[in-house]
Amino acid sequence: MRNLKSYAPLSKASASPSTEGDAMPESDSHFMLILGKPGGGKGTISKKILKDFSNFTHFSTGDMLRQHVREKTPIGKEAKKHMDSGRLVPDDLIIELVLDEAHKEARKGNSMLLDGFPRNIAQAQALDKCVEVELVVNLDIPNETIVERISDRWIHPASGRIYNYSYNPPKVHGKDDVTGEDLIQREDDKPETVLKRLESYEAVTAPLVDYYMEKGVLQTFSGTESDVIYPMVNKWINGELEKNKRPQ
Ligand code: AMP
Repeated sequence: MRNLKSYAPLSKASASPSTEGDAMPESDSHFMLILGKPGGGKGTISKKILKDFSNFTHFSTGDMLRQHVREKTPIGKEAKKHMDSGRLVPDDLIIELVLDEAHKEARKGNSMLLDGFPRNIAQAQALDKCVEVELVVNLDIPNETIVERISDRWIHPASGRIYNYSYNPPKVHGKDDVTGEDLIQREDDKPETVLKRLESYEAVTAPLVDYYMEKGVLQTFSGTESDVIYPMVNKWINGELEKNKRPQ
């Protein structure tokens, strides 16, 4: 895997002699990130990318953490306190989880699309030690559009099914299509929490744009409609992958 740098797991618990500093075989795998404000369409654009670039595996840290919360694991219990109030979970909780996953995929020779990580410079630096990030898609969506969209998003808490009253409404208002149970608004989708998340994004995550721009791997896509933005994203990824192809 050309992307995999020598990697030592952070905790003794997950360290095994065979994974520390492994030299990996070469293969045509790539590592891509998607950056953007919470609720700014990262999930939608990611889905489109995965459909067109099927050798990429999707890994969303938000989805992973929500699964831990649903399953009430020790990580989920700790993460919930931070997530419910719109704050990032602590770095020491998230970094190891993500690097382990990135390392696992990299060892299999898979390409990966990471969604929701890194969220700050410390996370980016930790990732840099593990893999070579080649492509960063940065979505730039106006705040008003985000607040409007998020207030339309309701979920079925037991399954994690997500509905949106604008473009993916439930068959019966307020009820899950499969079970008929009540839909709720995620604690972190409530307007006051959304605003906190946007502030936190500006303060902590926006510097990542400069970080990856300096490395020459980032492209910004601005707009409000994913159907308009995506064709530009697709074209850029294709061009970059073509450019990064090494002679056989
Ligand atoms: P998301 O679905 O990506 O917006 O993530 C939902 C919540 O999970 C965030 O508001 C954070 O509390 C937490 N989270 C997700 N990814 C990270 C990360 N890389 N670092 C810290 N917290 C995260």
